[in-house]
Amino acid sequence: MSAAKKVLIVGGGIAGMSLAIRLGQSGIATELIDRDPEWRAVGTGITITGPTFRAFGELGVEAEVRANGRSNETVRIFAPPNTYIGEIGPPVTDPQLPNNGGILRPVLHNILSRHVRESGVTIRLGISIATLSEQNDQAVVTFSDGSNGNYDLVVGAEGAFSDLRSTLFPEVPEPEYTGQGCFRLQAKRPEEIDAMYMYVGGPIKTGVTPCGPDAMYLFCNVPLPDNPRWDPSEDWIKLSHYLDGYGGIIGSVRDQLTADSNIVYRPLESFLLPAPWYRGRAVLIGDAAHATTPHLAAGAMMAVEDALVLSELLIAHDSLEESLAKFMDRRFERCRMVVENSATLGQYELNGTAIETHKKLQEISWQAMAAPI
Ligand SMILES: Cc1cc2nc3c(=O)[nH]c(=O)nc-3n(C[C@H](O)[C@H](O)[C@H](O)COP(=O)(O)OP(=O)(O)OC[C@H]3O[C@@H](n4cnc5c(N)ncnc54)[C@H](O)[C@@H]3O)c2cc1C
Repeated sequence: MSAAKKVLIVGGGIAGMSLAIRLGQSGIATELIDRDPEWRAVGTGITITGPTFRAFGELGVEAEVRANGRSNETVRIFAPPNTYIGEIGPPVTDPQLPNNGGILRPVLHNILSRHVRESGVTIRLGISIATLSEQNDQAVVTFSDGSNGNYDLVVGAEGAFSDLRSTLFPEVPEPEYTGQGCFRLQAKRPEEIDAMYMYVGGPIKTGVTPCGPDAMYLFCNVPLPDNPRWDPSEDWIKLSHYLDGYGGIIGSVRDQLTADSNIVYRPLESFLLPAPWYRGRAVLIGDAAHATTPHLAAGAMMAVEDALVLSELLIAHDSLEESLAKFMDRRFERCRMVVENSATLGQYELNGTAIETHKKLQEISWQAMAAPI
């Protein structure tokens, strides 16, 4: 007997899709909704750490992620404009797996969404929840298209600005802007770029991550205390400005920027929902519960791990309350560490804190992330 026979997952990002795969495969009646009628992946590429590869392995998609993405064994560090300093290697999570890599977000989305479809999950797109209440030990949901349904459990996986979170936890403030913005740009990978390159020590942090046979993405964290907004058509001009003076691969990418470059700009937010992440028959996972800045590249790791742990507990226990309480025991401290240490690393960048201090916190965090979940 599982703790839930019928589950609704709200949001088909990395967290929602990972949970749908596991629950669908276990025979639990699972519905997944996403408000985007086209169910697109937003963004360019993501960096994958060793623990993220491990989580993808447990989900059964790691081989496809590696085949369609890219594994990089090392991170090469440079000082601006283009002085090579040395290499750092994240700790080995599993000797069979890479320590570092990348994949384009739409490519990862295609892999995960195909597995969701194959696992027998009912998928409904272009809708969201209109109302949620509880009656006779069931979550009663009406949807934005006027339909309704009853579920043993509703899982909110709607990302950092979750509507379900506002409904369940109206007292909790929205994610906080950290003072940094982040540009990401998809670009063609020159063959010689065979590792992650990171440029540190200047007013911005930038670099490139290989994330496919001939693809890479450039990241650029910039200090913007007032959280200014501009027309996205100006992204390439702003990014050119921040990359001014850089040499090597960064200068080469900068010189090729045009108005048609595939650039995504996002203000960086940080958020940790206090425990517990559930109320009644609804629970939050992924960015809806813990939205992190990208400084440890661990958002996808936490999203997949949430799904692995929650599905394991729902399947193993008869009691929903017990499953959700154990879920919190296993997830809260680990996610707190990632969110808080990532935010601190961002503050180090803003304050120009010594590289050694930065490196020490990064290594402590990597060690913690490599520990078994
Ligand atoms: C700039 C930036 C760079 C990052 N880089 C990395 C990286 O390199 N590596 C890494 O591991 N992580 C990275 N992250 C973090 C990572 O992207 C997130 O942690 C991860 O995508 C979270 O997945 P999710 O499924 O929880 O949420 P999301 O990916 O946000 O998915 C939410 C889904 O819910 C849907 N939805 C939203 N609202 C509703 C609603 N009301 N009803 C129905 N559906 C809804 C959306 O359409 C979407 O499909 C980065 C984050 C940022 C901001």
